[in-house]
Amino acid sequence: MADNWHSLSTADTLSKLGSRLAGLTQAEARDRLAKSGPNELSSKPPRSPYLVFLSQFVNPLIYVLVAAAAVSVATGHYIDAAVIGGILLINATIGYIQETKAEKAMAALKDMAAPRTRVRRGGKLRTILSREAVPGDIVILEAGDRVPADARVMELAGFEVNESALTGESQPVAKVTGKLPLDTLLADRDNMLYLGTAATQGKAVAVVTGTGMETELGRIATGLESIESEKTPLQKSISRISTYLVMVLLGVVAVIFVIGLWRGLELLEMFLLAVAAAVSAIPEGLPAVVTVVLAIGMRIMASRNVIIRRLVAVETLGSATVICSDKTGTLTMNQMTLRRLYSDGRMIEVSGEGYVPEGKFKLDGDILLSPEKDEAIALALRIGVLSSDATVTLGEDCCSLFGDPTEGALLIAGAKIGLVKEKLEAEAPRLSEIPFTSELQYMATLHEEDGDRRVYVKGAAEKLLELSSHYWSGGHAVPLDDAAKADYQARIDGMAGQAMRVLGLAYAETESKTTALKPGDIEGRLVMAGLVGLFDPPRLEATEAIRQACSAGIRVIMITGDHIATAQAVAKEIGLGEGRAVTGRELAEMDDETLAREVRRITVYARIEPLHKLRIVNALKHHGHVVAMTGDGVNDAPALKSADIGIAMGKAGTDVAREAADMVLTDDNFASIISAVEEGRAIFNRLRNVLYYLLSTNIGELLALTVTIAVLGQAPLLAVQILWINVMTDTTITIPLGLEPKSGDELATPPRSPRVGLLYPGLLFRVAYTALLMGGMVFGIFYWARQHMDLDQARTLAFTSMVAIEWFRGFVARTDEKTIFKIGLFKNRWLLMAVGIAFVLQLTVVYTPFMQAAFNTVPLDLAHWGIALGAGFTLFAIEELRKVFFPMAFSQGKWRKR
Ligand code: ADP
Ligand code: MG
Repeated sequence: MADNWHSLSTADTLSKLGSRLAGLTQAEARDRLAKSGPNELSSKPPRSPYLVFLSQFVNPLIYVLVAAAAVSVATGHYIDAAVIGGILLINATIGYIQETKAEKAMAALKDMAAPRTRVRRGGKLRTILSREAVPGDIVILEAGDRVPADARVMELAGFEVNESALTGESQPVAKVTGKLPLDTLLADRDNMLYLGTAATQGKAVAVVTGTGMETELGRIATGLESIESEKTPLQKSISRISTYLVMVLLGVVAVIFVIGLWRGLELLEMFLLAVAAAVSAIPEGLPAVVTVVLAIGMRIMASRNVIIRRLVAVETLGSATVICSDKTGTLTMNQMTLRRLYSDGRMIEVSGEGYVPEGKFKLDGDILLSPEKDEAIALALRIGVLSSDATVTLGEDCCSLFGDPTEGALLIAGAKIGLVKEKLEAEAPRLSEIPFTSELQYMATLHEEDGDRRVYVKGAAEKLLELSSHYWSGGHAVPLDDAAKADYQARIDGMAGQAMRVLGLAYAETESKTTALKPGDIEGRLVMAGLVGLFDPPRLEATEAIRQACSAGIRVIMITGDHIATAQAVAKEIGLGEGRAVTGRELAEMDDETLAREVRRITVYARIEPLHKLRIVNALKHHGHVVAMTGDGVNDAPALKSADIGIAMGKAGTDVAREAADMVLTDDNFASIISAVEEGRAIFNRLRNVLYYLLSTNIGELLALTVTIAVLGQAPLLAVQILWINVMTDTTITIPLGLEPKSGDELATPPRSPRVGLLYPGLLFRVAYTALLMGGMVFGIFYWARQHMDLDQARTLAFTSMVAIEWFRGFVARTDEKTIFKIGLFKNRWLLMAVGIAFVLQLTVVYTPFMQAAFNTVPLDLAHWGIALGAGFTLFAIEELRKVFFPMAFSQGKWRKR
C-alpha cells in the first residue's frame, strides 16, 4: 500500500497521511517520530568495545611478540615472558583508547554536518534535522536541496530533480502535481520525490510519505553496509612509510642478529633482542597517532566554524596557495539594506538599519513627507515586494528574515511605506514564476490583479535594462531611448561604485492566458520602473583575514555574480585593491591559454556564472596552485569538486554544494577559512614533529645496539628495556607532541610544498643526524660504564640515559627551525606533565624491587643520574644551538619555492 501515493490526488494523500498544507503540529511530529523512528538508513552497528580491543592484537608485530613470549616460557624465562605479556596488554590498551577516542570525535563531527531540511510545522516555517522528518511533514524544497525523504509533490514552480542517485539517469526530471495511473513505474512517478535525490531547479512543496528504511532508497539499502571510511593521502602515505620502514628496519635487525651471533651472544638473548628491536623500530603507533591528531584538529576547526567533510582537506589546507572566495555573505555580511531608490528621474536616499521597517525617504536632503503616496516609489517597491520569495516576520519577535537577504532588503523597504507582502499577495495572487538563477540573473512572478495579468521582475540592473523596451516616467511607460538608457547606466555605475548591489525593478503587461511563465514571455518587453541600491557591509574580520592570508603566502581572489563596480568597490574596502578585475563576459571570450596567462593578475571576477568557476580553478591549478574555492549553489558543485579544497557555505549554501565540498563554513565567513588554514598548518607541524621523534628514537636505538654489539660483543640494553622505552617513554612523549599548541606564526610562513607529504628530505636528514648523536652517546656511555661497573649496572645506566635523552628530545622535537625558547620552553603543558610522568616511571623501574626483577635493573646513584641527564641535556643543547646558527639546516624540500 505504501507504494501507491503517486496514484492519489494531493488532497487524498494529505488526508491519508493525516496531514494538511499548514503542516503537522509540533506535538504530532513528536508522536510520529516516536512511532516511525528517525529518518535514517540504518547503518552498520558500531563495533563492540571488545572487538576494538581484540583487534589491537591483530598485527604481525604483535604475533612476533607473542611468539617471543612463548619462546621465553618454553626456555624457562618466565619473567621475560611476563614482561612481554604486560607490555602487550599496555600496548593494546593504548591502541584501544586512541582508536575509540578518534572514532568518537569523528562521529561527533559527522553529527555537526548532519543535513537539515525546511518544513512547515505548527503553521510556521522551521528548519529541522532531516533525521527528524516524519511522514506527513510538509517540506519546502528549493534548487540545491537534498530531498530528505520520500514525498508526494503538492505544489511546484519549475521544479526539477536529479535522480541519478536512484535511477542512474543524470538528466534532471521535471516534476508534476497531478495523480498518475496506479501501474506507473517507479522511475516515471513524476509526482513523487525520493530520498537521496536532489533538486536542481525551482521550488516545491511536498508531503513526506515515508522516511528512513521505509523509502525507496531504504529498500535498496537494506543489506548494504555503510560506506567504508576513506583514508586520506596522508594516512595512506603513513602506511606506505610504515611498510618501507618495516622492510628496511627488519633488514637492519637481521644484520644485528647476525652480528650478535658472530660476537658470541646467546641465541635466545639475541632472538629476544632482535624481536624487541624490530617491534620498537616499527612505528606501529603512528597511524593511530595520526588519526587522533587529525580528529583533535578537526574538533578545534569545528570550534572555529569549519566543519571538515573529507579528512583530506585538513592536510591540503596547509599547502593552499590561492583562495577563491565568494563576495556576498563571505567577504560581506549578507545583511542587505536598501539605501538608494532611483525612480522617475529622482535619486532617493532611504534611511534605517537592519530589518526594522522604519526609515525616511529623502530627496536632495529633504525628507519626503508621504512617500507611500508617491506613485513611482510605490510602484517600484511593490514590484520588489511581490517578486520576492523571502518572508520577514514583522511585529512581535520583530523582524527576522527567512530567505534571501537581497529580497529581505526589498521587503523591509516596502514595509517602510506600508507595503506588506501578505497584503499585497492577497490582492494580487501569484500565478506562476521564473525562479532566480545566477545564469538568468533575474526572477519574475506572474500576478492576477483586478482581472489583469502582470509580471513583476527584479534582477541585476543592467540585465533588466537590456530586456526593457520602456521605462516609467511621469506616470506612464515611455519608450526607452538611448538617452534614458545612458542615464540609467550612469545611475547603475554610480551606485555600484559605492559598493552597493544594484537591482533593477521592472514589470510587463501580458495578455497571454498561460499560467506557466517563461523567459520568452517577458524578455524585451519590460518596463523599467526603477533601481535600488542595496548596501551590504563588508565583514570587519575580512580585512584582517586577507592581510593574514597575504603574509601566509596565499592569494585571495574574489568571485562574485555582482556588478564589476560593486565588486571592485568592496574589494578595495577590504584590502584586495590591486590587481585586475574582469567580468564573466570577458572571461568567456578568453580561451584557456589566455586565461591561464591572465589568471595570475586577476583579483576580482564579476558577473560570474558558476560554470566559469571551473575554468578559473583549472587555470590556477595549471600554475601549480593549490586552490581553495568557495561555493553555495547547485551549479558550483563541479568547481567545488575540482578545486583542491572545496568550501561550501553552511548557512547560505545548498545541500548539493555541501556534499560536493571538502569542508563547510558554518558561519559563511571568509575569516574562518583563514583560521582553518592556520589549524591545518598546525596539524601538519604536529604530525611531522611526531614522525621525526618516533623515527629518530627507533633508528637511534638500532644504531646503539648495532654499534655496541659489534664493538663490545654485548648489548647495551635488554630486550625488555627496549620494549619499555618504546611503549612507556615514547608513548608518553608523543601524545603531547600531537597536542602541541599553535606557535602563533603558522600564518607567517609560506605554504608548505604540496608535492611532499609528511616526509621531506630535510626531515630524514634530521632523523639520521639525531640518531647518530643518540646512538653515539649511548654507545659511549655504555663503553665507559663497562670499565667502571658490572654489566647490569652499565645496562641500567645506558637504559636510563636513553630514556633521559628521550625526555629532552621531546622538547627538541617541538620545532625544527626556531629555537624552542622562541616559542616558549614551557608552552606545551602536556609535555611537561608527560616528562614528569615518564620520570616517575623511570624511578619506579630503577628503584622498586619488583620492577628491578622484571627489567634487570639496579639502583643508580646521583653521579649516574648526572651522566644520564647530562647526555640528554647535551643533545638538547646541540640541537638548540644548531637551530640558532643553522636554522634551515634540515629544511630541504619543506617549503614551497616562491
Ligand atoms: P553573488 O555571488 O554576489 O551572490 P549571485 O549570482 O547570487 O551573486 O547574483 C548575481 C546577481 O543577480 C546579483 O548581483 C543581483 O543583481 C541579482 N540577484 C541576486 N539575488 C537575486 C534575487 N533573489 N532575485 C533577483 N535578482 C537577484
Ligand atoms: Mg547570491
